[in-house]
Amino acid sequence: MTNNEIIAGTLSVFKECSINNFPIDCWDIINQYGYKVKRYSELKPKKQEACMGLSDDANIIGDTVYYNESKSTNRIRFSLMHELGHVILKSDNESECDKFASHIIAPRIAIHYSKCKNAIDVTKIFILSDQASRIAFDDYRRWRRIISIYGMSAIDKQMYEHFYNEDAQKFVWTFDRCDFCYTNDTYNGDVLCDSCKLYEIRKNIHTRRTDYQEHDLDIARSRWLYGNL
Ligand SMILES: [Zn+2]
Ligand SMILES: [Zn+2]
Repeated sequence: MTNNEIIAGTLSVFKECSINNFPIDCWDIINQYGYKVKRYSELKPKKQEACMGLSDDANIIGDTVYYNESKSTNRIRFSLMHELGHVILKSDNESECDKFASHIIAPRIAIHYSKCKNAIDVTKIFILSDQASRIAFDDYRRWRRIISIYGMSAIDKQMYEHFYNEDAQKFVWTFDRCDFCYTNDTYNGDVLCDSCKLYEIRKNIHTRRTDYQEHDLDIARSRWLYGNL
């Protein structure tokens, strides 16, 4: 299986589960594919032992993904996505499923647009283990080098299109509510939306009197909350 086929597998999940916010919710994704998620300790001792024998991270049994809850959260997330890889790629190949997990948790294009400077940034933003983040970041640098020479591949373009946000008119890897107006969306880690950012700039021009600022703040607030005054 080629790398691009694995990435296409992750894109099919992003589309099917309407994922456009990182970090992804690994538990929810598994549920959306009709699987339950349970801990090893929920199994009877004999089955638990058998599971441990197969993998001390995670296993699929019937319609349930079991995971070893004694591992770190970051590692569990990776293991869950590895198991999903078996389902999506219809593959028994362990290294293919590891790559799937790496790409679905931290797509290289999202590492790029989230401006990660190193593996530590990848760990923080995408919630990936330290080791997996190092692998993902090294792979990202390779990917970027290839793009700088050959340009985006077809699958890169499809990935870009999926995460392109019409309102923001850019690649969006995470969005939230604006801290100030609670009405508009903010993109890619911004705290304020574009209108509130403009307001902040204007406010800083009028800093002579505090009560004036307060008043201005109220006008702005009601405008955003109740429409135009
Ligand atoms: Zn496996
Ligand atoms: Zn706002």
